[in-house]
Amino acid sequence: MKIVVQKYGGSSLSTLEKIDSVASRIARREKGGEDRLVLVVSAMGETTNDLTRMAYDLSPDPPARELDMLLATGEQVSIALMAMALHKHGVDAISYTGPQIGLKTDTLHTQAKVLGIDSGKIQKQIDLGRVVIVAGFQGVTAENDVTTLGRGGSDITAMALAVGLRADRLEKCTDSDGVYTADPRIYRSAKRIDRLSYEEMLEMSFSGAKILHPRAVFFAWKYRVPILVKHSEMDGSGTWIEELEEDVEQPIISNVTHDVTVAKLTVYGVPDRPGMAFRIFDCLSERGVGVDMIVQSTTKRLVNDISFTIKRGDLAKAREGLEKLAADCEGMEIEADDRVAKLTLVGLGIRSDSSVAKDMFKALADEEINVEMIATSDVKISCVISEDQVKTGVRALCRRFFP
Ligand code: ADP
Ligand code: ASP
Ligand code: MG
Repeated sequence: MKIVVQKYGGSSLSTLEKIDSVASRIARREKGGEDRLVLVVSAMGETTNDLTRMAYDLSPDPPARELDMLLATGEQVSIALMAMALHKHGVDAISYTGPQIGLKTDTLHTQAKVLGIDSGKIQKQIDLGRVVIVAGFQGVTAENDVTTLGRGGSDITAMALAVGLRADRLEKCTDSDGVYTADPRIYRSAKRIDRLSYEEMLEMSFSGAKILHPRAVFFAWKYRVPILVKHSEMDGSGTWIEELEEDVEQPIISNVTHDVTVAKLTVYGVPDRPGMAFRIFDCLSERGVGVDMIVQSTTKRLVNDISFTIKRGDLAKAREGLEKLAADCEGMEIEADDRVAKLTLVGLGIRSDSSVAKDMFKALADEEINVEMIATSDVKISCVISEDQVKTGVRALCRRFFP
């Protein structure tokens, strides 16, 4: 029998009714008896946000270890309720927290990386005919401290289990019946995509589409685990993410992704000499600030301007570091803009045809959208625009590329 790992997100489990309804669907599937199911569940609805708010209402700087102790409780509620609901529907099920199944992580609280998983315990329960329910998003360090894997981290737990159990596939059960050509909440006429390559899905995840955590897609690609994205309460096909054999001569545009969680920083007046870029990015790296797009413009006055994008949540610490650096370098100034967004066109072979970039910028120009930064790769063209125009931009690109 094949093992299938199913992951249920918070929106699919936001009420007791929804948990009950998911459990009754699983019970029906279990009676069919085709696959052995392992479930990974997220915290109910907005629980993780609520817990985070509680922590920051109490303290401006809660210790990361204690934040993890608090956040991990959300998923523990879900596993227990799901196990009870399954029992009610006649399914023999057993729940485990991350630490209980030996999901080992490093010590980077709130952003921990998975180091390994003890799939033996789960396999034993599967062999006994039980449905195993695992709390997503959490693990444990070598010192037995509880950790969490970062927001959206239940996808990573699910993929780690799928790899560890050599599962046939991961079914990501969510509030959308597949991956669409754009976020359906922004563009209602978006079309569902039947199949996507790992590479395209990884680019989408990095470019801000939620759907799947980028680290989960990365593992899926590395270990060739197929993913089916489907609705948690509807039958039907969904979107497959897998290895695609297609030989791309012509670009195949698959979707438009947007991200409103970015900020743009510009450092003006950077002396044009070796080591300056290093000092800027070293100062960011020391503060754990990840940098995405980078643009440097040269002037004739022996100084440069360097602009880059970072996560909006990192803006305060990035600014603090750069302002210290600027105090050391005469004429250097920092400007921050947190009202920007990133708009990305994703597709295989996109760079092989320059008309794609032309068509993208024409569609944006027709809507009077100013492009502030541009970055390209084999599978994407990204640009930074004003946040106010992001919905217009998504719709304009969808109309142009998916008429
Ligand atoms: P879960 O909470 O189940 O893990 P997520 O919220 O992480 O689910 O991801 C599902 C959400 O991703 C959907 O509600 C949808 O609004 C959003 N989304 C963004 N871009 C897309 C897209 N291109 N196709 C489908 N859903 C998308
Ligand atoms: N509950 C966590 C979050 O909201 C993890 C997850 O849902 O994947 O980010
Ligand atoms: Mg999610």
